[in-house]
This record gives sequence, C-alpha cells and structure tokens, in this order.
Amino acid sequence: MAAYDFDLFVIGGGSAGVRCGRIAAGHGARVAVAEQRFWGGTCVNVGCVPKKIMVNAAEYGAWAQDAAAFGWDITVAGHDWGKLAAARDAEVARLSGIYGKLLAGAGVTSFDARATFIDAHTLDVGGQRVTAERIVIATGGTPLRLDIPGAELGLVSDDLFTLKALPRRSIVIGAGYIAVEFATILQGLGSEVDLMYRAPLPLRGFDEDVRGAAAEALAAQGMRLNPDVAPTRIAEVDGHLMVSMSNNFMREADAVFFCTGRAPNTAGLGLDAAGVATNEAGAVTVDDEHRTSVPHIYAIGDVIDRVNLTPMATAVGHALADTLFGNNPRRASYENVPTAVFMSPPIATVGLTETDAARIGPVDIYATRFTPMRHTISKREGRRTLMKLVVCQRTQKVLGAHMLGEDSAEIMQGIGIAIAMGATKQDFDRTIGIHPTAAEEFVTLRTRTREAGVVQAAQ
Ligand code: NDP
Repeated sequence: MAAYDFDLFVIGGGSAGVRCGRIAAGHGARVAVAEQRFWGGTCVNVGCVPKKIMVNAAEYGAWAQDAAAFGWDITVAGHDWGKLAAARDAEVARLSGIYGKLLAGAGVTSFDARATFIDAHTLDVGGQRVTAERIVIATGGTPLRLDIPGAELGLVSDDLFTLKALPRRSIVIGAGYIAVEFATILQGLGSEVDLMYRAPLPLRGFDEDVRGAAAEALAAQGMRLNPDVAPTRIAEVDGHLMVSMSNNFMREADAVFFCTGRAPNTAGLGLDAAGVATNEAGAVTVDDEHRTSVPHIYAIGDVIDRVNLTPMATAVGHALADTLFGNNPRRASYENVPTAVFMSPPIATVGLTETDAARIGPVDIYATRFTPMRHTISKREGRRTLMKLVVCQRTQKVLGAHMLGEDSAEIMQGIGIAIAMGATKQDFDRTIGIHPTAAEEFVTLRTRTREAGVVQAAQ
C-alpha cells in the first residue's frame, strides 16, 4: 500500500497549479489539485481573459468612429454594459470549465475545497485529511487596497467583473499593469477617468521612452493624469466618492479602483505547521528549483511573486512536473520574458530597458516614432507608435525590444524568439520586412538614434 494518498498534491487550480498537476499526472503520478474559488484562477476568471475581452470592447467604440474616415457611415449610439458582461461571463465560464475537464481527462483528482497544511505531508482539504509525498503551493495572489481612511469604499480589480453598470466617473489609483489596463477599459467604454499615481510617469520598470509615450497616449485619449500624488482619504459625499490627494486637491467620482499591487495568498494556509518560510511580503521563498524551505514542498506562480505572468506560471509548472515525475530535469528561464500591457494602443516589450542595459555596458539605441497608416487616415490623436531596439555595442546582440503601438503584443512574440536566441542587430537588418506593416520597422531601423551607458562604462 502506498505510504501517501497522493504522489503530488497541488494547492491552487490556477494557471500554474493546473499545468503542473496535469503534466505530472501525464507522467504517471497520482495527483490531486484543490481549488477553493474558481478553476483557472485569476487569469481565467478575474484577470487576463475577462480583461482582454473588455479591452477589445473598449477599442470597438473608437474603431467604429474611425471607420467614418474610411467612408463608412456608422453611428455609435452607445454601449450596452450588460450585453458585454454576459458575453464575457459566458466565455469565462467556458474556459473555466475546460480547466476542470483538462484535469479530469488527465486522471487528476479535483477537490473543490480549501486546502491547508496540518503538517509537512498532511493537508486538511475541506475537512478531509489527505497526505501527499510532494506538495506544490500555487495559491496565487490577491489585490491590495491602500491603508487609507475610507479604503473600504474603493473597489479592487476583481470587482470590475461584477459591476452592474459603467461608472460615469472613475478614479484609478496606481499606474502598473492593472491600473493602466483598467483605465483604458473604463475610458474606452465611456467613463471619465482620473489616473492617480505617485511617480512622475506611469508603468515603473518599463523603458523610459515607453513610459513617456504611454502617458502621452493616455492623455490624448482624454484621461486626466494625476502624477506625483497619492490618495490620502476616500469619503462618501452625497452619494459620490471624494478622493483627497497628497497635493491637497480632491477628485470626485462614482467608483474608485485600487490598482496598487497584489499580495501573495499565503495567509491562513498553515505554512508554519509545515515549516514553509515566507518573505516579509508574504511570498513563499523558493530556490532555483522552486523548492521551499521544506525540500518536498514547492511553490510556483504568483505566490512566489517573481514574474507574475500566466505564461511564466504555466512554463514553471510544466518544468517542475517534468523534473519531478518525467525524468526530464529542466527549468523555465525567467530571462527575456516578453510581456504586454493592454492599453490602447498596447505596449509590448522583451529584454532589457535602455536604463538597465546601460548599467551593464555601452549600448546603441535605435528608435522611431510614427503615425501608423490607419491613423494617417483616421486622424485619431494618441495613436503614434514607438518602436525601439537596445543593442549591445560590443556584441551587437539585441538586448531589448520595446513597442507602444497597435498589434505590439502580436509583434513582440516573434521578436521574443529572436532575442532569446541571441539575435544581433545584423540578424534583424538582414531580415526582409513585411510591407506595409508597422512590424517591418523592427528590421529597417538603420540609423542609430543615440548611444547610452558609455559614461557609466568609462567610470
Ligand atoms: P504593479 O506592481 O504592476 O502596479 C502597482 C501599482 O501600484 C504601481 O503603480 C505602484 O506604484 C502602485 N502602488 C503600490 N503601492 C502604492 C502605495 N503605497 N501608494 C501609491 N501607489 C502604490 O501591480 P498590478 O497590481 O498592476 O499588477 C500585478 C502584476 O500582475 C503585474 O506586475 C504583472 O506581473 C501582472 N499583470 C500582468 C498583466 C499583463 O500581462 N498584461 C495584466 C495585469 C497584471 P510604483 O510603481 O510607484 O511602486
């Protein structure tokens, strides 16, 4: 008789956990996955999927207006929030169901229950004691509110997907991925949006040129940008919300969204009972093999707060299952991870920013800004494209590619392959462009815009 009920127990049925469990079962392991809320986790239910559908919805309004310049006689009479919500929710339910089916098809035992540690090999799963030889923590993260008076009056990202109507005026606090995407959705669907953030530019961590172009694009869409401020209090006044800011100004709105980061879901998991260590932010600490402080317990996905992206989580979950049960020890690389911010137009990036690359050594910068063909006709403001390559002067390797512009996420996926393979600027140059596209600019950037990092390198 087996010593444990399962070879592997995965806590959390999101992107990381489902992939890990499914692949491990495919390798012959006896696997169970527990999910307390919804199969597919944040990405499918309150993240990437419903968000992208709403970004698409937001863009249609502008596109319908732009069509007039191309000869179409289209009247945009308004937007039906309920219709969008129903279509979105149906798609989310479909995908969430697929996640459940994938597990069942792979022979995984699913528990619709919360799992907590009793000891390092034993879990309480909805009141049932279950043992496992190995355990994977894949519990994801949760949106945070700021600790200010009246914070409970504000919403978090999950709430966008249960709102019954579009707020007439919205305040979005923060300027990371979620803030910028939510501001885009709300503005695009017709809300008046204030974006409120503590840095001079949105999207800290992105390339400085991209950040500048993003602020320009958001403002051109009619969003009111409030840089260099923090909210200090939210109050309800005559049925509206009043947000006080650190610069002593106030803004009124019908909905306030905290998009100020996420916390790893580790509270109440019983990690102490198992001896699993966390850092000061509550993230499970892991080594390069995703092993926690307890060697047979692993952690993957947003709960380790490393690169909080779905494709990263699935890649890591897959690699871990191959390593543990597939006789194929391997790691997913955290380097050169392409990523996109689905504002309008979207941002996509892979590799190093100019600033980060220049810290390592001298780099050549190739950059271009132009109005894409569609908008030379539509005359819509705020749609200028930015494309940029960061090239190592010594090796001529392309270290980073950055774009703000239509289809950038679709374009950057392929550029990501080239950069992961170590492509040089000359490799880009000898590639023939596809004409007429914006993408072809990445292979026709002949003239260096400037160099950077030369002074640092000389010091
Ligand atoms: P981010 O870390 O991207 O952004 C958090 C924002 O909140 C920043 O603007 C930050 O400001 C601000 N903030 C944090 N603390 C405070 C504070 N005390 N006072 C004022 N402002 C504060 O987190 P998100 O929640 O937007 O997204 C979480 C992660 O989820 C992302 O990092 C990304 O990995 C992933 N994600 C990916 C998406 C995609 O791939 N398209 C979409 C959505 C999320 P500052 O920068 O100054 O610290």
